[in-house]
Amino acid sequence: SNSSSDGDSYKVGIDVTYPPFEYQEDGEYKGIDIDLIHAIAEDQGFDIELEAMDFSGIIPAMEAGQLDIAIAGMSITDERKETVDFSEPYFEAGLSLVVAKGNTEVTSLEDLTEKTVVVKSGTTGADFAEDNKDEYGFDIVQVKDSPSMFQEVSNGSADALIEDYPVITYAIAQSDLELEVVGERLNGDHYGIAVLKGEYDELLAKINDGLANLKESGQYDEIINKYLE
Ligand code: GLN
Repeated sequence: SNSSSDGDSYKVGIDVTYPPFEYQEDGEYKGIDIDLIHAIAEDQGFDIELEAMDFSGIIPAMEAGQLDIAIAGMSITDERKETVDFSEPYFEAGLSLVVAKGNTEVTSLEDLTEKTVVVKSGTTGADFAEDNKDEYGFDIVQVKDSPSMFQEVSNGSADALIEDYPVITYAIAQSDLELEVVGERLNGDHYGIAVLKGEYDELLAKINDGLANLKESGQYDEIINKYLE
């Protein structure tokens, strides 16, 4: 591994509404993704500059040339692969249906007829809701970030939300959110680090090499264990 920078600096899009992967605390960005991208950059000898934004703005900002890299708890999907290239997967996630604690009425997707489901714009949760709303007969409300989504369900404005399992279970465990996960995960997916498709083959190879080095050295596990037990 290589501790000096080669002088290249890359702009990295992040979503700081997404603990334990990305959040802001005491004016600093923290979380699994933040530590991972810093460790990869250090291992591979490049510099990074973090740019926080709404999740839905990240891929458009990459396409506009305003970002070089995205690490944002971003799920690897075939649709996104039309626009971005992903690193090797670095975390297993998947979507969960979530309701207010003690809600005995909604115990599965089948119970969502004429209910309101809140989702975060631009996410796989939003896509899942869009793909299933006709079959189950629910309405969708979109918000810009995860805390607003949690708020809509805990204050009763929406009946359910769809969020990544590791994110919602962490949020419930860490705060006094009156929410609970319903049933099994709705799908399975993995997070990947993204670069604009076809433009960054060398950088993507470095990201993958760095990730592999962190896994081999044990630093990857240290980062995960720092935030999750
Ligand atoms: N993993 C989900 C997605 O890729 C949500 C990401 C997020 O909200 N930061 O769409």
